[in-house]
Amino acid sequence: MPRTMPEMSRGTLLVKALPVLAVALIASAMFVSPVSTSRAAGTPLVVIDPGHDRYANPATEPIGPGSSTRKIKDGGGTSGVVSHTPEAVVNLAVSKRLAALLRGAGIRVAMTRTTTSHVSMGNVARAQFANRLHAAAFVRIHCDGSTSGMTGTHTLYPVYHRGWTDDIYKPSLRLATLVQAELVRSLGFPNRGLDPRSDMTGFNWSNVPSILPELGFLTNPGEDRVLNSASGQQKAAVGLCRGVLRFLGRSPSSCG
Ligand SMILES: [Zn+2]
Repeated sequence: MPRTMPEMSRGTLLVKALPVLAVALIASAMFVSPVSTSRAAGTPLVVIDPGHDRYANPATEPIGPGSSTRKIKDGGGTSGVVSHTPEAVVNLAVSKRLAALLRGAGIRVAMTRTTTSHVSMGNVARAQFANRLHAAAFVRIHCDGSTSGMTGTHTLYPVYHRGWTDDIYKPSLRLATLVQAELVRSLGFPNRGLDPRSDMTGFNWSNVPSILPELGFLTNPGEDRVLNSASGQQKAAVGLCRGVLRFLGRSPSSCG
């Protein structure tokens, strides 16, 4: 009898696991549904990319298509000077709030990750995820770190680079301008302005309008506290939502 017990419970476990598996499959189908319904729905899709992941990725990848210059996939990000929270965790918390706000405003959303539990996929993969979905906007959520006491919000966008970003430079700059203004208004951190970048793999591989807001500095105690609070994360999400909706030609009032 005792011998058969493990077999029995294993069988029972399998039966119990099946509905869970079915739910997981349905959930993943729902996650992918923006692709299959993109034409039918006719509503824009925004890809939210919570920066980093649980583990850094020291492998390298070309900085742009056809480039011999390679860059590390993911150095791992910064962490809170008082909260000690990894940047990846803050990025995801804000991203989830932003996703909820955009969905509430009738915008379709896909996320490059929904947990902080893996080795970072790298920036080519993040850009290709947005490209595959023909995203109307690719919003890469990050927080900054500094050893020289810097504070404030800034938004990175791709410089003009023929063959790489010539197709996305203008809309990316417009998206960056709108999001930066709304983030500063909502969070109240110092305005560090816009930051044109030629060295961002995730921009150079992107075929859709792309920005990377650095919400604030986790190495600054005050900004760390705000960005690790529910109210601060909501403020960041509202600012991001308002900027994205303005970019999409929609009223930002539905962001709350
Ligand atoms: Zn980062």
